Amino acid sequence: MFEDIPVEVGLIFEGERIRKEDMQVELGGPKVDKKFEIVLVKSSDEIEDGKISVIGPDIRDIPQGSHVRLGILVEVAGSRLEEDLEGVLERRIHEYMNYIQGVMHLNQRYDIWIRIGKKSFAKGLDSFIYIGKALERLYRSELALIEKIQITFLTGGENFENLYTMARERYEARDARARGLSDEEVETFYGCALCQSFAPTHICVITPERYANCGAISWFDGRAAARMDPEGPIFPIAKENCVDQEKGEYSGINDHAKKRSMGEVNRVYLYSAFGYPHTSCGCFEAIAFYIPEVEGFGIVHRRFPGPTVNGLPFSTLADSTAGGRQIEGFHGISLEYMRSRKFLRADGGWNTIVWMPKEIKDSLTGFIPKDIAEKIATEADATDVQSLEDFLKKTGHPVVEKWPSHTDNLDKDDEPSGQEQGSSYTHRGQSPVFVAGELPITTGGVTIILKNAKIFAEKVIIRPIDKEKKGGKK
Ligand code: SF4
Repeated sequence: MFEDIPVEVGLIFEGERIRKEDMQVELGGPKVDKKFEIVLVKSSDEIEDGKISVIGPDIRDIPQGSHVRLGILVEVAGSRLEEDLEGVLERRIHEYMNYIQGVMHLNQRYDIWIRIGKKSFAKGLDSFIYIGKALERLYRSELALIEKIQITFLTGGENFENLYTMARERYEARDARARGLSDEEVETFYGCALCQSFAPTHICVITPERYANCGAISWFDGRAAARMDPEGPIFPIAKENCVDQEKGEYSGINDHAKKRSMGEVNRVYLYSAFGYPHTSCGCFEAIAFYIPEVEGFGIVHRRFPGPTVNGLPFSTLADSTAGGRQIEGFHGISLEYMRSRKFLRADGGWNTIVWMPKEIKDSLTGFIPKDIAEKIATEADATDVQSLEDFLKKTGHPVVEKWPSHTDNLDKDDEPSGQEQGSSYTHRGQSPVFVAGELPITTGGVTIILKNAKIFAEKVIIRPIDKEKKGGKK
């Protein structure tokens, strides 16, 4: 596509995955403490148009297999550009970098995770200058509002820390600007289909009180983006009829979800992780995961290093959450959504949260209602479900009132009735033993696919496969 870039650049490479064994280097990602990407709107005289700089070791100088810090600073100017557009322009870094053959870009803001593939490196993609050239040209060709652009990549240098701090402050200022407006006050929500290359049935519905899953696009950003590029991936959604105010179901959202998911997703609840939860691509900042043993939700964010209270780390929970599916009890969310008055409102809001990493809890001081804050456990209070149950009983967490009694076992006559239409989670001990987006069963020469399967069983027997093969069948 570009003669002076040694690899191809195009839509065809979006969604390309680079596995660990195929990567030349990893930039940012979970093994690196500080990383960021930011777009800043500047005045025309502050920008040297077309300048691309690298501060710190370039790709060719980084030993193969290394994980290094990376900051990407994109500065733009244009007579019709406003600060309001920064968040939206910033999200295009994700899209455009994924157009480059052998480059994988995940996440956003202070969570970016980029891999350069060995094959593309061998073809000559050994400098950030090439990536900068691709970004510069894609920005110019797709967004006519940009009149000047300069791009800086930092893998080190004295200024890295300052720019990282500035970027964190800028993200917070953008998020704070979007707080205060309610979903009821607006007639239009916004949808984003940017992540459909990774999750074809997913759109984010961005409302004033439900920030985009990636945490990078507010309702104001969505509005600015849809005005700037009406044919682009961010589009208006007229709310139309409110079907259920408590759960946040609107016919306008349902229509868009159905159309954009090719009929896979027909209904969406904005404020619930049950029934028809908002889908999740893979860019979510955090996961709300149901813990049936205590009838409450745990929260885990991408940077939490260890296993959560149910023994599973973020990566395993993310596998159950991502992919544009509606998996009850596994809900991708942004950190900002936890500051919203609508946060999981239909499921009990903060009164249903039982566990979260201390880092997140501390960052939400002032947003978690005072009467519940002390009753939510962190990794310092509970590291498994039993110690969580003890903690919740001791602190008198509201979920305890939902437990039939601390000594009751499942009544064998109980039937899993569901709390609501389309929900399979019920009382303690009655949660499904298996939940899957799609469960294929091959029998008699045909494959039967159970969609959104939830299986209840009286007993589950797990046998090692090897034993069966060796004739150990009982
Ligand atoms: S997570 Fe949602 S809002 Fe963010 S880029 Fe992906 S689809 Fe768009």
